[in-house]
Amino acid sequence: MRRVILSLCLLVFSTATVAAQQYDLVLRGGRVMDPETGLDAVRNVGIRDGKIVRISAEAVSGRRVIDAGGLIVAPGFIDLHQHGQDMASQRVKALDGVTTALELEIGAPDVAQFLKSKEGHSLIHYGTSASHVAARAAVFGAPLPPEIVGAKAGAPEILPKSGPATDQPATPDQIEAIQDRLRAELDAGGLAIGMGIQYTPGATRLEVIDMFRLAAERRLPVYTHMRSAGRVEPGSAIEAVSEVIGAAAVTGASLHIVHINSTCLRDSLECLAMVEGARARGLDVTTEAYPYIAGMTAVNSALFNPGWREKLGIDYGDLVLPDTGEHLTKERFEELHNSSATRWVLVFGNTQEVVDKVIPHPLVMIASDGAEGHPRNAGTYSRVLAQYVREKGTVTLMDAIRKMSFMPAEMLERSTLAARQKGRLREGADADIVVFDAVTISDRATFEKPMEPSVGVQYLVVGGKLVVDEGKIVPDVFPGRAIVGPGKIGSERP
Ligand SMILES: [Zn+2]
Repeated sequence: MRRVILSLCLLVFSTATVAAQQYDLVLRGGRVMDPETGLDAVRNVGIRDGKIVRISAEAVSGRRVIDAGGLIVAPGFIDLHQHGQDMASQRVKALDGVTTALELEIGAPDVAQFLKSKEGHSLIHYGTSASHVAARAAVFGAPLPPEIVGAKAGAPEILPKSGPATDQPATPDQIEAIQDRLRAELDAGGLAIGMGIQYTPGATRLEVIDMFRLAAERRLPVYTHMRSAGRVEPGSAIEAVSEVIGAAAVTGASLHIVHINSTCLRDSLECLAMVEGARARGLDVTTEAYPYIAGMTAVNSALFNPGWREKLGIDYGDLVLPDTGEHLTKERFEELHNSSATRWVLVFGNTQEVVDKVIPHPLVMIASDGAEGHPRNAGTYSRVLAQYVREKGTVTLMDAIRKMSFMPAEMLERSTLAARQKGRLREGADADIVVFDAVTISDRATFEKPMEPSVGVQYLVVGGKLVVDEGKIVPDVFPGRAIVGPGKIGSERP
């Protein structure tokens, strides 16, 4: 009997010891880079129950041990601006190093339905803002078609070129109704208020301020595509930046200006100087960019209402259909712009010189604005690492990782405390990790082949689970979880 008890004790003791040492997953001997603390050293990383439990120079053992020798081990990239939430987009995002992709610009038209549609079916973490565009459409009696709710969030149908919800100013009662709808969307888990002011030109300056007031009331940020682009006054990009910085100043809401590269175009550095000035005076203003000279939007959206060529300084031939490569002519443009069938168009409106100055700017975080049809969907993050870190040498590897993980995590902390465990490679943080080869990582997506996956991401860990293993997507694994705002019961208020 004594012997049985002794061996039982030994069994319990040895199991406990093994449990203390064993991890679900170990990344062994990689170059661990953490932009928050500046750690840049060869370390072993032990992962258990979805968390980074141990980062050590000493050997650690685990059920699966990955030799990360010669590879970079960094916090998974966080994309604050991803429209395409479908599986094909998620796969190319994962192969581009992205562990969280959020639709914060326009926002999903129905937060609850969006979250429900993603639950248990997501490779990477997801979330959305509460959509001002959709709230406006609902209040004007033109609710968005149900088929675009969910994975197709940000589809061109959300942005009609004309109609009351697009063109007309809201009455005071309608503004209140839009705010009520947005409150309900925030209660459903929206992370912020998402505005696409250029797509709702009927929204007055006062309506914009009233939406910022609501954001301030909820202590949440506004993410916005600004009212206008280009140099022509009135309606320049400079005026557009002034409008939203003014709205942030008078209301106290945090402001995130999306894709400053594609709204401010040749004036991007002037716009960045305005953001810098606002920050220097205590305003909470942030911004993002993607590393391509073309944008993409719906050809029959309000963005192409009369005057667009003068405003953007481009012509019909600078518009290209993504699926066929066709450059538009005046006749073809008129046909598509006036058609009720919505269609994406690539807009070649920026120069390489400007983009090359914007990406390294210390205030600029990287976000893709991704959707099928534009290579930014699949290639944004690898492209920054290949072109700006490796080839041009204008961004250090640590700064690139900071722009793609830690800075967006800090931005997201304005919406949820859960973000404090993201964008960091430290003990206790969420095990959302990208393991890539800094020598070979490259984007492969082009304007001709926009869904070509990037190469060089060897492993991707999402919530402790491998989603990319030896450069390939792991089948039937869906560890992506919702990231929700404080309105949703049980989520954490920042
Ligand atoms: Zn936009």
